[in-house]
Amino acid sequence: MNINSSNIMALAPNTSNKRETVCIFGTGDFGRALGHKMIQSGYPVVYGSRSTQISNLIPKEAEVLSHAEAAQKAAVIIIAIQRQHYNFLTPLAEILHGKVVVDISNNLKLNQYPESNAEYLAQLLPGAKVVKAFNTVSAWALQSGALDASRQVFVCGDDVEAKQMVMNIVRALGLTPLDQGSLLAAQGIENYPLQLFPMWKFPFFLSLGLTAFFFFYCLALDVIYTYIYERNNFSFFIAFTIPNRICPVMALILLALVYLPGVLAAIIQLYRGTKYRRFPDWLDKWMLCRKQLGLIALAFASLHAVFTLASPMRSFVRWRTSKGIISQALNNKTEPLDTTNAWISDSYLALGILGFFFFVLVGITSLPSVSNSVNWREFRFVQSKLGYLTLILCTAHTLLYGGKWFLSPSAYRWYLPNIYMLSLVVPCTVLVVKFVLIFPCIDKPLTQIRQGWERNPKYSE
Ligand code: NAP
Repeated sequence: MNINSSNIMALAPNTSNKRETVCIFGTGDFGRALGHKMIQSGYPVVYGSRSTQISNLIPKEAEVLSHAEAAQKAAVIIIAIQRQHYNFLTPLAEILHGKVVVDISNNLKLNQYPESNAEYLAQLLPGAKVVKAFNTVSAWALQSGALDASRQVFVCGDDVEAKQMVMNIVRALGLTPLDQGSLLAAQGIENYPLQLFPMWKFPFFLSLGLTAFFFFYCLALDVIYTYIYERNNFSFFIAFTIPNRICPVMALILLALVYLPGVLAAIIQLYRGTKYRRFPDWLDKWMLCRKQLGLIALAFASLHAVFTLASPMRSFVRWRTSKGIISQALNNKTEPLDTTNAWISDSYLALGILGFFFFVLVGITSLPSVSNSVNWREFRFVQSKLGYLTLILCTAHTLLYGGKWFLSPSAYRWYLPNIYMLSLVVPCTVLVVKFVLIFPCIDKPLTQIRQGWERNPKYSE
């Protein structure tokens, strides 16, 4: 009996769930899209507009009134109007007194105004409870329902209750509110949608610069040098050989650059004897973009794998192979199998394949969907231990590929080292320093420092 009655209670309509009317100022793209979404979610919507004529684009369930009339009908007023028109709100200050006024505006440039749009709105309407929200969601995403990538809505405001009311609306629309604190956070929230891959800038320009440098380096040594001194026209190297030299070199250097800041940070902490002093700005920024550096390195490594697999299809390679066979036939002499060379070639290929496999594994675990499903220790194990293993394998792959050839004088055209030798400088430095750092006499104090121990404590008793 009891069970049945509780079921009936659960199925009965809950009258307290009735949504409060929301007022939207502005019947532009965003105002209309938000209005549609709100009506779908059960909110009665009233528009405040300069023109009270009903248009086909405005949801037909909504009322369209003058700004003053519309504001009186709701406790929450969303301002879907550009900041430069906010002056029209000043005469409405009295009506908006005590109401929750939501600023959703964005700017065209980063830090366009000295204060954020939300703070400016709060100055215009001193009695209103201004909350910043919705600016990171686009009208198109609201209307089309394509909100997968932009479900998060940053919310900030000085009045906790007003912020809660707005966050409840955000949740009711099927979005995720993220409380960013007081209205002081509004500037950052307004800058957020204007940023263009901020973490990718340094890795992207660094890769671009290094690629350009290595391209001209290879062009000089492999094409121009051979043309001048050997009268060979190898200009076609530009299409395949040079890119397939640059890709592994870039992959190895960028991978080493992912681990170099960690090694530098350890040296700085050991030198200072504390972890409580900030790293230099450049090191902080470098550490923050390690994931992006690693992913670009992985892209170069993948290209190198594809280039290498396609290599036997090249006409130049087929010509060189048949030339070797024909010269053996003409001389009536078969070259014996050089097992040392066979060992070296098989080993560097195996190291390359293994290195690439671990590289992909480390890359996959850095993706948010995967990293969210492992705990911190597992994440560190993959990123640090497997990452270093990848660096060791890829460095060994390059070292073996170079082999004795690195020592031959013909490898130094114009007295310049081969591109592969250059590529080994950073990874070898990182690995040697890391090897020194794991010595117990160094690792022990470093671990203590990282656990909070200080050589010269500032606040000693
Ligand atoms: P919009 O299409 O240009 O609409 C703006 C609305 O403001 C107009 O339809 C008009 O509504 C009203 N308006 C224009 N001039 C006015 C004036 N002098 N005085 C009073 N009201 C005036 O712009 P929107 O794309 O909807 O953007 C509105 C706000 O949302 C902006 O601050 C924008 O930064 C922000 N936002 C937009 C998007 C988006 O995807 N579009 C995304 C996030 C945030 P009435 O004719 O009804 O008065």
